[in-house]
Amino acid sequence: MSDEMEHYIQTLLLNVLFLCFFLLFVPLLIESCSIKKIIKYKKSIFTLSACFAIISCIAVPISIDDGFIFDLRLVATIVGSLYGGVPVAIFLWAVNILFRMLTGGHGAYSTIIVSTILMVISIGLHKRFLSGSKLKKMTISGLLAIGTSFLVFLVLTQLNNLVIQPNVFITYLLLQFISAIIIVYILEFIHETTLLKKQLYKAEKMEVVSHLASSISHEVRNPLTVVKGFLQVLLQTDLPKEKQQQFLTLSVSEIDRANDIIRDYLTFAKPAPENIEIFDVKEELSRITELIRPLANMNSVSIRQQLHSGSIKGETQLFQQCLVNILKNCVEAMPDNGVLTIETYNTGSTITIKIADTGAGMTEEQITRLGEPYFTTKGRNGTGLGMMTAISIIHTMGGSIKVDSKINKGTTFYLQFPINTQ
Ligand code: ADP
Ligand code: MG
Repeated sequence: MSDEMEHYIQTLLLNVLFLCFFLLFVPLLIESCSIKKIIKYKKSIFTLSACFAIISCIAVPISIDDGFIFDLRLVATIVGSLYGGVPVAIFLWAVNILFRMLTGGHGAYSTIIVSTILMVISIGLHKRFLSGSKLKKMTISGLLAIGTSFLVFLVLTQLNNLVIQPNVFITYLLLQFISAIIIVYILEFIHETTLLKKQLYKAEKMEVVSHLASSISHEVRNPLTVVKGFLQVLLQTDLPKEKQQQFLTLSVSEIDRANDIIRDYLTFAKPAPENIEIFDVKEELSRITELIRPLANMNSVSIRQQLHSGSIKGETQLFQQCLVNILKNCVEAMPDNGVLTIETYNTGSTITIKIADTGAGMTEEQITRLGEPYFTTKGRNGTGLGMMTAISIIHTMGGSIKVDSKINKGTTFYLQFPINTQ
């Protein structure tokens, strides 16, 4: 291989690196980020990122003749315009022309022709692209990459009478084609994974909701039985007014209790909008404890609480789901009786939530496998997805989890979250 060819390939590969950084790494960072503002401006950030990809490609091109350059900026333009539609396509078109003009040379005029044709075609294909399957998206972007490569070739050879070596053109065409389809493939993969994670959270939650249902209905039946007893007594006997009053007050409070249990359960079961907010740990933990209490009562488990206020940031629904999963495991580890302790500690910049049970405990091997998908010791009664979801939610919220467990003694979980000081 000639030195010149080696230099061309190195330069184009550097362009591929720019494309990977701006079109893959940045979107991946945005997807895994839980900051609300960033999620809100996801599209704008992606557009800006594509814009930086174009600029960096123009900055490091192959110069083939005086004033004519080759680079992979069109891949960023294709991907950005196909995903973004009309405004993004026009914006990237302008960026292309502006920055190509700034670098100067005769070739700048060819850019205007190529970019304009590419902008019109990608605007026309945008809807079909977005509604298509992954394969269709890859095909569209791949064909567009090949099409524009030939267009560039035609414009340079026919309009500008340049001579382009076939191996330079083939390298350019291949790299343009391969990077376009690989970038679309990985972008789709990132998107699918995020979607799948959300669906998994939902499916796992429905499983927990259905598990809790029996304990809830049991817990609601108790107050109803009490009320029924009081009413029967009131019907059958002639009680003094004072006693009647007392029975009625008790009945009302029992019905209130049943009402509260159902309300908490329904709030948990109902899907809520995905909203990142700042909430008080004490308030949220009290609500979650009430949700788990019926299950604890069924296993004769008593609950001890020592909670302090402190604000943390995240989706309350996911926080609830995470804690219900951990608490449910603790209660299930104490089938006959036991004590469930829920405490919080503020340590300056973090809040630690300590959850301890006096149940079955885990072996060393079980502790290391905790959080592994489908790892369960409960046979058909377990899914093995509870801890995986819980741990994933804790990490999304910027927190961490630690487990201490001794077989037949019990298990303690320490969850640590950063305090929100805003
Ligand atoms: P599942 O509860 O459906 O089995 P999880 O992911 O919630 O799935 O838990 C996985 C396994 O971890 C459980 O089957 C159990 O063996 C173990 N485990 C989790 N929490 C505790 C706990 N508090 N005490 C004892 N074992 C636990
Ligand atoms: Mg579980």
